[in-house]
Amino acid sequence: MNTLIIGAGGREHALAWKIAQSPQAERVFVAPGNGGTLVETGVENVDLDPTDAEALIDFARDQQIDLCLIGPEAPLVAGVSDALVAAGLRCCGPSQQAAQLEGSKDFAKAFMQRHGIPTAAYRTFEGREQALAYLDQVGAPVVVKADGLAAGKGVVVAETLAEARAAVEAMLGQGRFGEAGARVVIEDKLLGEEVSFIVLVSGEQVLPLATSQDHKARDEGDRGPNTGGMGAYSPAPIVTPALEQRIMREVIEPTVAGLRAEGLPYVGFLYAGLMIGADGAPRVLEYNCRLGDPETQPILMRLESDLLELCLAATGGRLPEVEARWRDQAALGVVMAAGGYPGDYAKGHPISGLDAARDCDSKAETSAANIGMSTGTDTGTGTRTDTGEQEAKVFHAGTKRDGEQTLTNGGRVLCVTALGADIGEAAANAYARAEQIQFADAFYRRDIGHRALKRGTS
Ligand code: ATP
Repeated sequence: MNTLIIGAGGREHALAWKIAQSPQAERVFVAPGNGGTLVETGVENVDLDPTDAEALIDFARDQQIDLCLIGPEAPLVAGVSDALVAAGLRCCGPSQQAAQLEGSKDFAKAFMQRHGIPTAAYRTFEGREQALAYLDQVGAPVVVKADGLAAGKGVVVAETLAEARAAVEAMLGQGRFGEAGARVVIEDKLLGEEVSFIVLVSGEQVLPLATSQDHKARDEGDRGPNTGGMGAYSPAPIVTPALEQRIMREVIEPTVAGLRAEGLPYVGFLYAGLMIGADGAPRVLEYNCRLGDPETQPILMRLESDLLELCLAATGGRLPEVEARWRDQAALGVVMAAGGYPGDYAKGHPISGLDAARDCDSKAETSAANIGMSTGTDTGTGTRTDTGEQEAKVFHAGTKRDGEQTLTNGGRVLCVTALGADIGEAAANAYARAEQIQFADAFYRRDIGHRALKRGTS
């Protein structure tokens, strides 16, 4: 089986790494990939634009690609999945219309309202005056969101009316975010703990993945501006089996039934960003029509099953025939970012210590006996136990290769991911490796996993 993975981030590195391990995998391409996928065992980069459907189709036909897997939202919202499917290719990723669940917050909110899916109360505005008048009516705290895609930067959780008004002025007055901000959703602020709940969908069939939690804020203690995500872990201890059932019943099942009822074909990963309130009820903050980044990295570290088989089952309408098996261990990923991110940052800094991170012994005593044996077949970024299981992996995101050197090439540069007996041990293992890696102005949060650790379980 030949696979084409579309995208360039840490999520796509993790997908390529996992698919390449499938007994069914022959060639695994990533378009365009990054410095990590370029040297990943069994993976090849191909220099194509993820939204250039024609070029992707030509390549897929030439290389006899059996499965296309779309990682990021932009190609989905641009209709790349529709084009691939129309060209007779098998694609794991929803149609453009279904991807409106992520591409338009107004569409997602109206969809939830139509199908009785719990979410914050909201109104949508195109006119600045009306939006400002509504803000005066509801007061703060309140959340102002650009309707379209804005790479996680189009959401302002405003604690004061002045902040909320400034956000409306920026979006509807000054045209910040362009078309994406030409409409704004204003919604009630929800309180509670955020959870990422991701499922694989094929029409009405649903396969839930392991639970996870992300860390959106840049700084420790969940402070500072929102980012694409500074670290994640799996499982999320807050999601008990009872809560998981409730999420399936109240959120996922009505979403999938709603998509079907509205004639929106959905094949691919579906992500519900949820707020779990003090009352224990899940409410939807957002949908993403793809896997989360960085949640994918720890989730796939825990996946024992063949990911290629799961994706083929989804595109073939036979999800009920497959099962996702998970390691009992926890996994945790720490994002190493470039100074300045999520604002402006420099690119092109050399990264050192990747080999040291691979060869690093676990800090956690309980698993120290098992590790420290790196294999020659790895990419220089993974550590294996003597049973051959990979216990840590540095997934690349914003990196590129220049000869023998790896250089920074984005805001989120690496996601250092490790397994452990519990979240605490996974964190110790991941941080031990992150400490080995250096590049100019690198920064990372030191408290990834803090909610799970406070809970005292994993
Ligand atoms: P992403 O980067 O995940 O694509 P996005 O731009 O689609 O983000 P949302 O996920 O809707 O935006 O919001 C980003 C973050 O803002 C959420 O993860 C959450 O922390 C916060 N947020 C959004 N809506 C609310 C709300 N109603 N109440 C409280 N916090 C919220």
